[in-house]
Amino acid sequence: ASRASPSGKNSAFSRLTAEDVSYLKDVVSSRCVVEEKEALEPFNTDWMRKYRGTSSLVLKPNSTEQVSQILQYCNNKKLAVVPQGGNTGLVGGSVPVFDEIILNLSNMNRIRNFDEKSGIVTCEGGIVLEALSNFVSERGYTFPLDLGAKGSCQIGGNLATNAGGTRFLRYGSLHGSTLGLEVVLANGKVLHMLSTLRKDNTGYHIPHIFIGSEGTLGVITAASICCPKKCRSVHTALLGVDSFDKVTELLVRCKDEVGEILSAFEFMDRNAVELATSLLSHVRDPFPKSFPFYVLIETAGSNEKHDEEKLEKFLENCYSEDFISDAVLAQDQSQMNQLWTLRESMPEAVSRSGKSIFKYDLSIPLEHFYGLVTEMRSRLAQHACHVVSWGHIGDCNLHLNISSSEEAYESLSKLIEPYVYEWTRAHGGSISAEHGIGRMKSKYLPISKDKSTLELMKQMKQLLDPVGILNPYKVFSQEA
Ligand code: FAD
Repeated sequence: ASRASPSGKNSAFSRLTAEDVSYLKDVVSSRCVVEEKEALEPFNTDWMRKYRGTSSLVLKPNSTEQVSQILQYCNNKKLAVVPQGGNTGLVGGSVPVFDEIILNLSNMNRIRNFDEKSGIVTCEGGIVLEALSNFVSERGYTFPLDLGAKGSCQIGGNLATNAGGTRFLRYGSLHGSTLGLEVVLANGKVLHMLSTLRKDNTGYHIPHIFIGSEGTLGVITAASICCPKKCRSVHTALLGVDSFDKVTELLVRCKDEVGEILSAFEFMDRNAVELATSLLSHVRDPFPKSFPFYVLIETAGSNEKHDEEKLEKFLENCYSEDFISDAVLAQDQSQMNQLWTLRESMPEAVSRSGKSIFKYDLSIPLEHFYGLVTEMRSRLAQHACHVVSWGHIGDCNLHLNISSSEEAYESLSKLIEPYVYEWTRAHGGSISAEHGIGRMKSKYLPISKDKSTLELMKQMKQLLDPVGILNPYKVFSQEA
């Protein structure tokens, strides 16, 4: 049961006592505890610096057994807990709202097993995505997930948010590539579901409940994930396009002509590229003049000559038929990295461009995809702000970002929300394509979920976490 105090804090939760701290320190050892005010700051603050909690305790367990002991204790004592991975989440889900204990998984970063024949890797939840990706790459496999925050985010956080990223187009969602999970429930019980079988239809697919549950149903301590074989030939091209209609036609043609080797199809608008190149010295636009739209294409296959010829032919056709205005085909790894840097620098550029940041991660059917960006620009025309967009357009996933000065926050927010969400619903989209609901969108969850589905979600939360200690105030709002 939740009883909200005037501040919104659930008064059913206990206050952390010296006795609690002493018990929890004994579980993880004092080396794995953060208590000092300054040292707590980065754990209490989210990546956007938009959400800030006041936790006085971070615990960094080393094993599933320790996670289990911590949760069992907290559940009995009614102490609220926020599971935290790399803290790169963009919806305020990874930091406390009030003084919840932070359970940070970064010490649980071991690979438990790798099968060279099947490409199935079993690892702990706190391993950083880039480290995991490098590990399988060195053994001839590709990790099926890649995203801009790879240097900090952890596989447990990726699973908890059901992260999408740039390889989604080719390898699909983590629901498909995850074969098993190990999860600790709120009461400390460990669910041993670390299957490495591709097929296992014995009853309900329980691991899927935890993928995308944003730390509200259990703590993911380990996962087994199936990795595809690494492609020997990878090509990256950046295209300049002069209208949005051409971008969508390009996507259709690209699937038609190079579909079997297509591994990424990403989009950025001119405003986003100009923002990134003007604010970040390491980012550059390779074209001599700018274009209204940019598309980054990557192909990955097994035959260098065939793949290169195919992509070149496709680009030539598009150019001669006026689908694209210019193109750069990377000639080596360093040029490829430069093109990806342009795409992946977008979130950082926005975060540097103003103190008031509004970030939207929406699924929008292709025919309406850019309509919202155009509408927001005219709606906010009287205000000094940046309205920029990019996204995984191959998956109909738009990242709309608006930034402005600190003082503009209140006036802008009234014009932006709930307008963005209602527009998205009216055009058949989803208010979260890949970042989740967290704290930021909990009030708007009913926009994308019907009443009976929402009711079932609440019943599942009640069943798995009856005391409600796991990531309270996230996903479900008091009002929803
Ligand atoms: P955190 O931010 O620490 O946590 C996220 C949520 O998961 C929280 O609710 C937390 O409670 C929960 N959680 C964390 N670890 C666990 C665990 N072990 N068990 C249970 N719950 C847990 N996202 C995309 O989907 N696609 C992108 O392309 C993408 N690009 C990004 C680029 C940048 C530059 C940045 C900053 C972010 C990007 N994100 C993207 C968002 C973010 O990186 C992802 O949501 C990522 O999956 C979060 O992982 P994390 O380890 O940082 O989790």
